[in-house]
Amino acid sequence: MTNKSRRVAVLGGGITGLSAAFYLLKLAKERGETVEVTVLEGSDRLGGRIHTLRRDGFVIERGPDSFLARKLPMIRLAEELGLIGELTGTNPQAKKTYISREGKLVSMPQGLVMGVPTDSDKFMQTELVSEQGKLRALQESELPGEAKAEDDSVGAFLERRMGKEMVERVFEPLLAGIHAGDLYKLGLEATFPQFKRMVEEHGSLIAGTRAAQQHAAAAAKTGGGASVSSAAPELPASVFLTFTNGLSTVIEALEQRIRAEGGNIRLEAKVREIEPIAEPKEAAYRLHMLDGTVCEADQVVVTLPAYVAEELLAPHMDVSALSAIRYVSVANVVLGYAADGFGHELDGSGFLVPRGEKRLITASTWTSAKWRHTAPEDKRLIRCYVGRANDEQGVELDDEAMTAAVRGDLRDLMGLEAQPEFVEITRLRRSMPQYPVGHVGAIADFRAELAQKLPGLFATGAAFEAVGLPDCVAQGKQAAEALLAN
Ligand code: FAD
Repeated sequence: MTNKSRRVAVLGGGITGLSAAFYLLKLAKERGETVEVTVLEGSDRLGGRIHTLRRDGFVIERGPDSFLARKLPMIRLAEELGLIGELTGTNPQAKKTYISREGKLVSMPQGLVMGVPTDSDKFMQTELVSEQGKLRALQESELPGEAKAEDDSVGAFLERRMGKEMVERVFEPLLAGIHAGDLYKLGLEATFPQFKRMVEEHGSLIAGTRAAQQHAAAAAKTGGGASVSSAAPELPASVFLTFTNGLSTVIEALEQRIRAEGGNIRLEAKVREIEPIAEPKEAAYRLHMLDGTVCEADQVVVTLPAYVAEELLAPHMDVSALSAIRYVSVANVVLGYAADGFGHELDGSGFLVPRGEKRLITASTWTSAKWRHTAPEDKRLIRCYVGRANDEQGVELDDEAMTAAVRGDLRDLMGLEAQPEFVEITRLRRSMPQYPVGHVGAIADFRAELAQKLPGLFATGAAFEAVGLPDCVAQGKQAAEALLAN
């Protein structure tokens, strides 16, 4: 683009949209360009799925609660926003995770990495899987390798490699929880591509996982770990990180920085139509808001849920790649207790509930044990998840029925009888995108057509490449780089 003062509209004020706006302003400044950025957020608050509630000394997450430390874009963003000192890791004493089996909490077998058994002696000691199931899983290293070109579902792939029982009792609760999905419908290439690569490169998941462990240990010895910058103080040694005052910290810092750099943020600006402007034109796109207002822009970044992007783009192109992405609704039930009378030792980070157990709760985080900053010393905080693919009706229970059912599950599984001091329920309807088999190829085709039909318009965010917060930050930054390169 020759015009040095380009106008860019960013649709959506979640982490992807705000990252895109932040990096647009930052990168343009570094290049000596001027860019007018306007974020159009449809609701009355920024953050999208990120939403921290701070009350009575508790830090309560209504959506995501942390991010993977090994994926660096979030840490780099924190550094750029001056937030490195606010990062905190999980409590090292709360390592244990439980899985429910026939109503009893069984400790997750040791020697499992992402569900793959790397230490057969330790794995053989678990009661979670039958003897036959364990032996079948360990045979995986002797199965022939695979180099299947076309995509597969995660469930079909893992069942073929590790056996059905391991999928039901270990992989399903462990992996499906990330997407609240059905492993037999989620595409492998889009969700866990590393599994496919391991088998292609090492012949089996077990050999591939062991190789990755050795590589990580060697990198740690030579100091080749997650170094962010020489200026960054030592990060907490933790697989997951968050901010001591909650994830909304990063949203608040992004908002402040975007405004300080001259960016414009509009709330309650719900976009209902994207109109490409025909020649002669002053701008490439006119964005029509629900309230009748209009915003003109030379370039546009769409960071909306797939079903919203689908509606806006359908008049201009084939949107079948977006309509193929189903969304699952979930609810988040947070219970706060007085430590006095709680009557239960939280000796781990929480538990997972396989589908076959037929409970309302799909998983529970023992938040005050896992994340020490989240509750005052004399309080306890428990978070329960409700709803997953093919099992979403529980999300619509009214507050009273949901609280009673969740407390019933906690009583049965943990023996927790205490009366909570408060319960916070958040329903996140259509919040979890389910990448179908073939998603990666379908999105590549969609983007190629988008570039042709609507030049200067980019679509990105959780519906596209990956749902994790660092992935969303990376996607926002990539969109900013792509826009500035045009
Ligand atoms: P969103 O956050 O959905 O933002 C999209 C924005 O677009 C919203 O603000 C919305 O209001 C706005 N919008 C919608 N329609 C319009 C319109 N027409 N016009 C203008 N604006 C509009 N990830 C992790 O890494 N760690 C976790 O612990 C984790 N836990 C999760 C727990 C839950 C319950 C959920 C739902 C997700 C979790 N995730 C987690 C995933 C992660 O939170 C999301 O992938 C990420 O926040 C999505 O960010 P986004 O900006 O792409 O989309």
